[in-house]
Amino acid sequence: MKTITIPDIGMADAAIVEISVRPGDAVAAGDMLLMLESDKATLDLPAPEAGVVAEILVSVGDRVGQGDPVLRLEPASAAVPAPALPQAAPGAADHADLVVIGAGPGGYTAAFRAADLGRRVTLIDARDTLGGVCLNVGCIPSKALLHVAKLIDDAAGAAPHGVSFGAPQIDLSAIRGWKAQVVGKLTTGLSGLARRRKVTVMQGQARFTGPHELEVTGLQGPRHLRFDQAIIATGSSPVRLPFLPDDPRILDSTGALELADMPQRLLVLGGGIIGLEMAQVYHAFGAHITIAERLDQIVPGADPDMVKPLMTRLAARYDIHLSTSVTAVAAGATLTASFDGPQGQWQADYDAILVAVGRRPNGAGLGAEAAGVTVTDAGFIPVDAQMRTNVGHVFAIGDVVGQPMLAHKATHEAKVAAEAACGHKAAFGPVAIPAVAYTDPEIAWAGLTETEARARGQKVRVERFPWAASGRALSMGRGEGLTKLLFDPGTGRILGAAITGTSAGELLAEAVLAIEMGADAADLSLTIHPHPTLSETLGLTAEAFEGTLTDL
Ligand SMILES: Cc1cc2nc3c(=O)[nH]c(=O)nc-3n(C[C@H](O)[C@H](O)[C@H](O)COP(=O)(O)OP(=O)(O)OC[C@H]3O[C@@H](n4cnc5c(N)ncnc54)[C@H](O)[C@@H]3O)c2cc1C
Repeated sequence: MKTITIPDIGMADAAIVEISVRPGDAVAAGDMLLMLESDKATLDLPAPEAGVVAEILVSVGDRVGQGDPVLRLEPASAAVPAPALPQAAPGAADHADLVVIGAGPGGYTAAFRAADLGRRVTLIDARDTLGGVCLNVGCIPSKALLHVAKLIDDAAGAAPHGVSFGAPQIDLSAIRGWKAQVVGKLTTGLSGLARRRKVTVMQGQARFTGPHELEVTGLQGPRHLRFDQAIIATGSSPVRLPFLPDDPRILDSTGALELADMPQRLLVLGGGIIGLEMAQVYHAFGAHITIAERLDQIVPGADPDMVKPLMTRLAARYDIHLSTSVTAVAAGATLTASFDGPQGQWQADYDAILVAVGRRPNGAGLGAEAAGVTVTDAGFIPVDAQMRTNVGHVFAIGDVVGQPMLAHKATHEAKVAAEAACGHKAAFGPVAIPAVAYTDPEIAWAGLTETEARARGQKVRVERFPWAASGRALSMGRGEGLTKLLFDPGTGRILGAAITGTSAGELLAEAVLAIEMGADAADLSLTIHPHPTLSETLGLTAEAFEGTLTDL
């Protein structure tokens, strides 16, 4: 029996924030045993050799320092052989009950749920960390950067309230470190969750070679895997514009998140959520922003009245060209973009260009035809309500099956697919899938929008509560917000909700629950909301429908 102690961790002590193994678990050399965290860093404690965990001597929350015993390990040589984890050797054909291709929010959720339901699962991703686009180059790093940007903006906005700060000192390298730390915590945490469930993780590009066979090409060479069932969760990639030159100053969202450089002049192609979020980051860090959007409003998909407060704020800070296309870019000492818009045609120079014109599904290039799985010309994989493709034992989830391309849609589809694959009764049928632009102000909406209702000719009653009448919003100096609810005029049932303002994304959750539960105006208006909060605006909007509103 070997006692594992804390090695020199370069600090006096650290807290145990995660224990990734349990007594009886078989571990390989290098497998994570536990995670330590101090105010300076997060560290994994790996197994020094293979063996079986005999006893855990610490608990989450304990503080430990060099030499403290944490775990007793029966080395593999002495241990009774543990049930072998599925380990794929180069060239050998391994077998998994269920294989999940893609380890984004869809893929890892499906893998973990299926493992919890007793399946032997192999999770494959071309990246060497779990978490897919969302954790590595999407939702999470963008929010880490937006947090820093908001600190800067809020500090600048404090002057009218009587507090002034000096110009911010921007240390891009430290900001990159902060972002990497956030991402690292989450992706390492996922590896621990996979290990805990005995999900086999394979790095490599997967390709179907038959209805029950895959080839995985990774750092360790090609490997073959046989499977009973598969879940495709290969996500999406940024759309490239074919007329753009190949130039390192032309970035997609992944390149922009790297924050390699701070351009003085950044042109953002696309006024959608991703483009606007990155514009906010680069603006806070000192770049001058120009946005070109082909449509006649930014945040297409949200109702125009909800976009207006954001547009007003951004128009004072950025150059925004709506109904405008960029038709060409010439790469020289600068990037010269040619525009075509309501003002005619013109050219302007930029130091960098961010292309954020949408994402395309990763359905092609997967060899899906070898498994008989249909992929549309656009690259989407059609599925039924159980997330089953046209081939009974193959499921698909997340961005690759369709819009909206959002992480929370992927995770919910993932649970349905895993449960259906395990023979449970499950179907994906949400009434509302929320969408949030994490801009400042945020815009969040769910269910029916006013634009959709009008297009369908559906009769709705629309009520709005302007945040100019919200004590909380005014006390924050952010009275520009708006809360809007769409009701069935006959029953008062809430059909849609939209909120623009600080923390709109958080506030929307109440409305999503209301829509999902079939709540009506009385349910919301008679719910006592705490005062003074922004959440009150939802209750007050419902009071407007009920005719009981006294705040306006
Ligand atoms: C900058 C940015 C910000 C975003 N912010 C948000 C947000 O705030 N909220 C939100 O809900 N959504 C956000 N999204 C969208 C969100 O990231 C996606 O909707 C979500 O990641 C989709 O999850 P998924 O599981 O379908 O696939 P993905 O996360 O795309 O993961 C798919 C994985 O499959 C792997 N893969 C693909 N093909 C293969 C193959 N053949 N073999 C092996 N592996 C393969 C890829 O390497 C990838 O890791 C953002 C996206 C971006 C780009």
